[in-house]
Amino acid sequence: MSQPTDTKCLIIGSGPAGYTAAIYAARANLCPIVIEGPQPGGQLTTTSEVENFPGYPEGVSGNQLMADLRAQAVRVGADVRAGLVSAVDFSSQPFAVTVNGSDTITAATIIIATGASAKYLGLADEQRYQGLGVSACAVCDGFFYRGRTVAVVGGGDSACEEALYLAGLAKKVYLIVRKDYLRASQVMQQRVQQNEKIEILFNTNTEGLFGDEYVEGAHLVSHRGSSDEHRFDIAIDGFFLAIGHQPNVKLFTPAINVDEQGYIVTYNGTTATNVAGVFAAGDVADPRYRQAISAAGMGCRAALDAEKYLATLD
Ligand code: NDP
Repeated sequence: MSQPTDTKCLIIGSGPAGYTAAIYAARANLCPIVIEGPQPGGQLTTTSEVENFPGYPEGVSGNQLMADLRAQAVRVGADVRAGLVSAVDFSSQPFAVTVNGSDTITAATIIIATGASAKYLGLADEQRYQGLGVSACAVCDGFFYRGRTVAVVGGGDSACEEALYLAGLAKKVYLIVRKDYLRASQVMQQRVQQNEKIEILFNTNTEGLFGDEYVEGAHLVSHRGSSDEHRFDIAIDGFFLAIGHQPNVKLFTPAINVDEQGYIVTYNGTTATNVAGVFAAGDVADPRYRQAISAAGMGCRAALDAEKYLATLD
């Protein structure tokens, strides 16, 4: 039997927001189709242990959590499909979405839950040690570095926040800042500077990481390109990136409004975007919290908003 190509609700993305939206939409008889996207399960599949998602008293692996959410969505009737959305047309109702370059699905409502991707420096070693000491989420992975030494890269509010969070757990935190000043707000700068566990390395860039299996250290260069340039190594167990996040919105702009950081703008305290019938949930529309549980909550709200919107059409 061929798969349906029309739905009341199409969900793009399969992180906590996408699957939670699917659970609510399925239970509301919207017969949702979920297109999983390039990273089924989303960012959580790249973290090891999740200990802050309610309902798992012993913690759960990121992969298991996402497998559970997916299974729950499927059990209540969501049609979850592997695939990549390659184009969208929001100019008329029903909306048209192209999947895998050729298949078209039409939908009365769309929930965008494509998440955000942490920015990386672009070093080959970041991939080599991913999950083996390299992380872009201190709240997710910091716990594993209790009593150890870590480095955080970045000089903005995120980097300061991550450094302070990690200082509460780790023995020592290096903050690697490429300029000679922090870009973070004054209050965050003060907190970092006053924290005895944090050592700020200004004018410093990372050139590579080393370690047999796990990260054991970083190759750094100070004052790169000047007469003061010199290279040195630091011994660390964890290397945290905090140089910003990039919401995954490329497919949807300029039709969908985004803010100056690129996050989808939602209106009136709901998940509604500027296009009636298109909703956004999770990290793609959340520059502030970026947690699995807050994304799941927003996914729930998006499905309820879609249901309400469909009722007004009726
Ligand atoms: P920002 O863009 O503010 O800062 C990014 C930092 O990473 C900058 O210091 C930047 O350096 C550095 N960086 C970027 N690329 C590289 C690179 N390739 N190599 C080395 N360093 C690099 O991002 P944030 O995520 O910190 O913050 C985003 C927004 O969210 C900001 O508006 C921030 O104020 C806000 N925010 C607020 C918080 C709060 O109020 N508690 C907490 C977290 C974020 P450079 O300065 O040289 O460009």
